[in-house]
Amino acid sequence: MSNDTPSAPVRTDFVRDIVAADLREGRHETVVTRFPPEPNGYLHIGHAKSICLNFGIAAEFGGRCHLRFDDTNPVKEEQEYIDSIEADVRWLGFDWGEHLYYASDYFEQLYEWAVYLIENGKAYVDELSADEIREHRGTLTEPGKESPWRDRPAEESLDLFTRMRTGEFENGSRVLRARVDMASGNINMRDPVLYRIMHAEHPRTGDAWCIYPTYDFTHGQSDAIEGITHSICTLEFENHRPLYDWFIDNLPVPSRPRQYEFARLNLTHTVLSKRVLLKLVTGGYVRGWDDPRMPTISGLRRRGFPAEGIRDFAGMIGVARSDSVVEVEMFEHAVRSVLNRTALRRFAVLNPVKVVIENYPEGEVEYVEVPNNPEDESAGTRAVPFSRELWIERDDFMEDPPKKFFRLSPGREVRLRSAYFVTCHGVIKNDLGEIVELRCTYDPETRGGAAPDGRRPKATMHWLSAPHALSAEVRFHDHLFSDAYPGSGDSDIFESINPDSETVLGGCFVEEALREAPAGETVQFERLGYFTPDLDSTAENLVFNRALTLKDSWAKLQAQGRHNVP
Ligand code: ATP
Ligand code: MG
Repeated sequence: MSNDTPSAPVRTDFVRDIVAADLREGRHETVVTRFPPEPNGYLHIGHAKSICLNFGIAAEFGGRCHLRFDDTNPVKEEQEYIDSIEADVRWLGFDWGEHLYYASDYFEQLYEWAVYLIENGKAYVDELSADEIREHRGTLTEPGKESPWRDRPAEESLDLFTRMRTGEFENGSRVLRARVDMASGNINMRDPVLYRIMHAEHPRTGDAWCIYPTYDFTHGQSDAIEGITHSICTLEFENHRPLYDWFIDNLPVPSRPRQYEFARLNLTHTVLSKRVLLKLVTGGYVRGWDDPRMPTISGLRRRGFPAEGIRDFAGMIGVARSDSVVEVEMFEHAVRSVLNRTALRRFAVLNPVKVVIENYPEGEVEYVEVPNNPEDESAGTRAVPFSRELWIERDDFMEDPPKKFFRLSPGREVRLRSAYFVTCHGVIKNDLGEIVELRCTYDPETRGGAAPDGRRPKATMHWLSAPHALSAEVRFHDHLFSDAYPGSGDSDIFESINPDSETVLGGCFVEEALREAPAGETVQFERLGYFTPDLDSTAENLVFNRALTLKDSWAKLQAQGRHNVP
């Protein structure tokens, strides 16, 4: 091995290979990428894949990545979305520095280029209606039909285009089209629309414009203006690439970007379409764009998924050119791995039953040291109060246990984590026969959770001192869609919404250390899962979301050979 061989494995994929070759062979001096969201909704986990790819490549190759809002459709775009997108990209851990752009900044330049095309006989104002244009377009097997306005003189188109801009015409009455090839095998090349009339207020340009450029006419030229070298997008744009190149070839643009396509992320039990996500919000199916069940970045954050877990997942799935569906369990596995390493451990009792330690002095309190993270000694310990009255988990006790039940039952001794061994001697029930209290004794010799005589109970349980515990509400989340492939075939997406996707449990208890826990800090409730304070949580009314259970079901899928790594 030569000294140059890097010891850490360097991630690679076909896009990185292209970038590396372009730099090595001198086609570019530096790599410039961009992430180009349309501000018509919140970002989702699919966007995170694109963000990690674009910003990741820029960082790895010493280039830069721009954040560019593709804000060409004022009817659907809002400032709220712009703000959320910036916050989400930052939270994911990426920084565009001074390179924040808006396609709307280029409206004047794009307009000039449209005029240039008209002057060169490469664009014309069409007066067919939207329906007629569709009918003229043809199909995959039939060529399109030319519009009767296609060969009108350039001066006429120029005059009309100027008047379109000044607001003389109604929405839909005219469009500007490129004059490419109505017989092309690629439908995108059949005289695509460049400008449509929309009398609508734009979040940034206000009422300066009433004609707006289409995605196709905007995207590549924006790339060229910004000096983007590699314009990386998802596969559905593959058929748009000839058009992308046609504009670059036919306009006096300042640089020559190239478009590369990769497979978009699809996840089981998940919908990644902003149109559908918007309907979930407006239809009241969820608490908002940031509902913990939503696949949005803000939903995942609220649910307690750390950014590192999302980035790790993006690395795990890699970048390929063929579409596939990734098991959502694999995503959870990536997040769980990060949480297992980093999350502080805390005690919480979700379904409590009272324990009274009969031989423990009334009114006395002592503090036991409990490790904050057995995976990370540097996380230290914390002092947790212990007293005569405790809460334990109701299903950690059985009056009449089957053979393999080793937790608390009459006559059985168990360890309370980091505290004492306790033995149950009695059960108190109410009139309905429900258990309301367990009477136990403790062994003072076992402080810290070890006995001088070396005896070892078969079970170790979590617990809380009842007078010190804080009450809390806990929200549990399951897949938003019961169907692994929601909306596939003829099925109605909204019919496969899981009615049990959110369960709210009141009357839970958590330890004092969680009183001030900030939203976004995810902890492990020992033996129960990973939880984070919800945005609704206040000091008086604590609310936690369960981010994930402890059980890694992806490992099981993997063992069954059912996992799906693209
Ligand atoms: P939708 O189709 O849901 O409206 P979109 O793709 O139109 O989403 P944009 O805001 O245009 O949303 O997306 C910005 C960037 O994110 C684009 O480059 C797009 O290719 C990429 N992207 C969107 N969805 C995914 C996905 N599921 N996987 C990977 N990249 C994606
Ligand atoms: Mg888009």
